[in-house]
Amino acid sequence: MKLQSIQAVEQKLMLQTYARNPYLFVSGEGVYLRDENGDDYLDLLSGIGCSALGYRHPAMEAAILKQGANLIHTSNLFYTEHTAELALRLTEISGLDRVYFCNSGTEAWEAALKLARAHAGLLRSEGKTIGTKILALDHSFHGRTMGAVSTTSKDKYREPFNPLIPGVEFVAFNDIADLRAKFSSGSGTDFCAVCLEPIQGEGGINPVTQEFFAECRALCDSTGALLLVDEIQSGLGRTGKWFAYQHYGIRPDVTTLAKPLAGGIPMGTMLCTEEAARAITPGMHGTTFGGNPFACAVAIAVIDAIRDDSEAMLAHITKVGDYFKSRLQALVENHPAVKEVRGLGLMLGLELHSADLATKIAHEMMQNRIIVNRTSDTVLRFLPPYILQKKHVDITVDKLDHLLQLHQEGHAEPGASTSNHDHIDASPILAGGTTHG
Ligand code: PLP
Repeated sequence: MKLQSIQAVEQKLMLQTYARNPYLFVSGEGVYLRDENGDDYLDLLSGIGCSALGYRHPAMEAAILKQGANLIHTSNLFYTEHTAELALRLTEISGLDRVYFCNSGTEAWEAALKLARAHAGLLRSEGKTIGTKILALDHSFHGRTMGAVSTTSKDKYREPFNPLIPGVEFVAFNDIADLRAKFSSGSGTDFCAVCLEPIQGEGGINPVTQEFFAECRALCDSTGALLLVDEIQSGLGRTGKWFAYQHYGIRPDVTTLAKPLAGGIPMGTMLCTEEAARAITPGMHGTTFGGNPFACAVAIAVIDAIRDDSEAMLAHITKVGDYFKSRLQALVENHPAVKEVRGLGLMLGLELHSADLATKIAHEMMQNRIIVNRTSDTVLRFLPPYILQKKHVDITVDKLDHLLQLHQEGHAEPGASTSNHDHIDASPILAGGTTHG
């Protein structure tokens, strides 16, 4: 089917959950997506952070073909080959003790919330005083299921589904006084969990401060509440370390991963300490598809590709990310319309002063075949594949610079350019062979 036919059928038959952009992608290679007309788009979004190794990565392709031919699913009633191997890798890179596999970000977060409630129940059964309330942050996003949306701050995601889960309160972002006041309100032990994203993604690429993160850790330690750290967008290398909390030197009690974990194959995971894990016994929680051999085999391939060559890909992410950030910083200095650049590694946001201009720039970038996303109204968000190179950064920032200049001078953007990129090359980095750009 062609784009227009698909649009017509979707309009009629599908639940209208998404306002899609009118582009039909049919294949991808490296950091480029190809549309139905054979045009290539430089992808700075990687499927909202999922296609972390880009498209057609050889290690992923090999794992998909091999495991797809062997065994896809059996259920959690039996042992399968790859869960243990994956759990070994995840506990090693995270510094946490136990793993639970599921199928998406919101499901991983839901498991974290349930674990916090169950852990508090266990502590109460052992004679400790601890309540059931949950503290989350302003501008947070943790997913769409009932528990996840209850800890998500934005009204537009919450209100249509009221009443949500009671007992969730929100702290002003990075406001330590508000954190202390809320946490110690009531009896002082009302909260069983504090939730945070080290770098908020949907909220606009907002890093928590070292002091705020440390205070969350200290408050949880003071009562036995669990510190739940959502790394669904920031985790598995995106910021140049395996987990963003490793930049802060703080170990959470629970963390969640999803998006890049199996490189675009749906998979989520929750990791936790031995102490938190005491609260879960067989039958309390689970999911049919979770940790099936297919998803696990692909996740192993993704992690091993990142780990390859002494974690060269993490160093590459830091290097290209720093370069990207410095080039975006120059836009802040040269364009009055640009407010600030934020983020770490290849999780970056460029905040403009106007939501209207951010919408226009994202749209015009797309017309110029560069995929950039806008989040939180005014923020252009960059979550490119980890294999991005400096030359792709230059293409992107040069185009942003040009568009911002046109808007500053009051000119409308002249339609789509004929050439937005170098070419789809067969360089080792696009093929995933080396990560140095
Ligand atoms: N948590 C964070 C930080 C996210 O960015 C997202 C998705 O954007 C989620 C949770 C929900 O993940 P999913 O869409 O896979 O359910």
